[in-house]
Amino acid sequence: MNKILVIEDNRILLNSLVKLLKCESFEAIGTTKGQTGLELARTEKPDLILCDLMIPDLDGYAILERIRTDETTAEIPFICLTGASDRASLRRIMELGADDYLTKPYSKSELLGAMQSQLKKRTRNRILNIPYIHPNLPSIDVKIFHDNLTKIDAKIGLQDRFNLLLLNHFKPGQNIPIALLSLERLEEYKNSFGAECSRLLFEGAIARIVSHLGDTGSIIWSNGEQIGILLSPVSNRQEAAEKIREILAILAEPFSLLNYHLGTGGCAGMAFYPGDDRSWERILGKANIALHHARQQPSPRPVIYTDDLLVNTKDRLMLESDLRHALTENELIVYYQPQLDLSTGMGMSAEALVRWKNAKRGLVSPGKFLPLAEETGLIIELDNWMIEEVCRQAKIWQDRGFNISVSVNLSALQFCQRNLCDRVAEILEETGLNPENLELELTESVLVDDPEGAIATLQELKALGVRLSLDDFGTGYSSLSYLQQFPFDILKIDRCFIHNVSENPKNAAIVCSIIQLAHTLGLKVIAEGVENEADKLFLQNHRCDRIQGYWFSRPIEADAWEQMLYQNCA
Ligand code: C2E
Ligand code: CA
Ligand code: CA
Repeated sequence: MNKILVIEDNRILLNSLVKLLKCESFEAIGTTKGQTGLELARTEKPDLILCDLMIPDLDGYAILERIRTDETTAEIPFICLTGASDRASLRRIMELGADDYLTKPYSKSELLGAMQSQLKKRTRNRILNIPYIHPNLPSIDVKIFHDNLTKIDAKIGLQDRFNLLLLNHFKPGQNIPIALLSLERLEEYKNSFGAECSRLLFEGAIARIVSHLGDTGSIIWSNGEQIGILLSPVSNRQEAAEKIREILAILAEPFSLLNYHLGTGGCAGMAFYPGDDRSWERILGKANIALHHARQQPSPRPVIYTDDLLVNTKDRLMLESDLRHALTENELIVYYQPQLDLSTGMGMSAEALVRWKNAKRGLVSPGKFLPLAEETGLIIELDNWMIEEVCRQAKIWQDRGFNISVSVNLSALQFCQRNLCDRVAEILEETGLNPENLELELTESVLVDDPEGAIATLQELKALGVRLSLDDFGTGYSSLSYLQQFPFDILKIDRCFIHNVSENPKNAAIVCSIIQLAHTLGLKVIAEGVENEADKLFLQNHRCDRIQGYWFSRPIEADAWEQMLYQNCA
């Protein structure tokens, strides 16, 4: 948040300016006295000063002159607010070093415009002024390595500095902490506001780190993507981790840039020399492994390298490699979990669930590999394959005279693909399946970020004739009123409410009201995870439309469901 100092002798004007600035998300401090203004400029170090020219105790010219000659305040942008519009006074203001002036009366947009352009200039200047930090390690020429150096140069330069640190400041029993930081959302800002914005943010983050670390003997470098920090040797690892945690906290504060308040959190991985390794290259590698794990953590705490992380990383890499293989080598299969229609007593619908049959790993359930598939984007290919495979198989059943419907799960990532509807339309056309026989299951998570975009996509899908089902209802936001906005046909109540519903009065009440409301909105209701007959009867009595769960059938292979269909229709 930018801090603005306002010096204005008219108290009414001062109060209204301070109020306006606060409304515009600035931190504003004000005074009616010129002398107090000078003191506040020195102690509060504002990002910008707005100063009236006519102040009884010390006029604007004198204030400006002193601000510019005091080293601690000389760089602060200064905008004069003046009633005088004669050229001589304006010229004098500029000669004394004002950055801009506004003649009264000025509009709110003129004021904010002038302020923003000075603040922007200040951010740029600050960034240009940060290439050196001055630690109290005189023998080390500490530098921030910018990306205009090649990565190789930066690496060698850094290693030299590391060696110097080792030579001059390291004592036995100590560890040198190495932290690697990465910033979140830079790509997003780059796409929305341009490369300049993400560059400024990145450099702004470095500036914050530099000013936080101050003269602590830290070396900061960057390869344009990650920020590296080498702290002075410590005897206690937690002490270093705490310092990095503080840095993550200051990076979590929003940045004011290009008229926006942009938030970019960071994550950090740490390793220690020589505790974790004695090779510089390997120690960086280990900090990187820790960083990778930090990215998957919900809380912004630095992750410290341990050998366990390495094992996990290896496992993950093997799993990822095997999973890519699975997609090309046809190791994925579809299981179908039949559902029972409670009004007809027929089991003519099923949910398609992916399984992975691997020679080494056996039959792997989605819980084990879907998170990785989502993280790597492989889920898109996987979901596409599922839709295709399920439509192909369903068409065969349709041709054999079964009026079945099959549902397929769509991941959030898949739902956001621009060509999703085209792809579904193509598959329906290629396989010849009647669209009414296909249901697509989505969870609430796909709706919350961009409800309007989601409504548009859902409507497009609906226009193809497929049915839409809201999965895991009750576990997310579950606002029944917002359910109304989305064109769903089916609501699936999550199994956590269904488990022992016949004996749990709270769950029973929730389930009954969900069923009633869904029916009022014209939705069919499916209860998931029905494991016993008592629960099935309860749901039947409360007019639930379909049930799915181990009581009726576990997920089974296509052949097995086909057997059931024949028995059903016999
Ligand atoms: P889901 O969509 O909620 O699927 C239902 C899960 O509940 C399935 O687990 C199913 O085996 C399990 N289940 C069914 N009846 C019962 C029951 O009576 N009791 C209990 N305790 N569990 C029951 P599964 O097959 O392991 O799938 C887990 C999740 O993986 C699914 O949850 C779904 O979110 C996801 N998933 C599965 N297949 C696909 C797919 O092809 N694409 C995508 N994007 N996600 C999928
Ligand atoms: Ca589902
Ligand atoms: Ca579900």
